[in-house]
Amino acid sequence: MKLAYETDELKEKLKILKEENIKKEKEIMKKLEEIQEELEDIEYEKKYTREKIEKKKKEMEELRKKLPEEILEFYDKYRESLGGKVVAVVENGACSVCTMKIPGKVYSEIIKGKEGKCPNCGRWIFYIE
Ligand SMILES: [Zn+2]
Repeated sequence: MKLAYETDELKEKLKILKEENIKKEKEIMKKLEEIQEELEDIEYEKKYTREKIEKKKKEMEELRKKLPEEILEFYDKYRESLGGKVVAVVENGACSVCTMKIPGKVYSEIIKGKEGKCPNCGRWIFYIE
């Protein structure tokens, strides 16, 4: 009688353990599915971003074709050291980026030629009427 009772008790414990295992497996499967979905989202973004980069590169190429060689060289050479801001305009006689007043001689040259370099920050400056 005692043995039968103990066997029943063991069976019950085993049943509980199995149920707990199934619960854990379900949780792990759920987590796996979530990560899989996230990965798919990231893959999609990656593809989309790559296409966007290609499109922007083409746009840049088209724009570069429209610029004189001298300005392109200046742009490529100083783009990094000027913090990506290579171009400025003359506003009220001053450079729009560093705000320094453009000296009279340079100013009149810029007005005549409509472009030049800021004597202070070295950026390419344009005069826009
Ligand atoms: Zn400047």
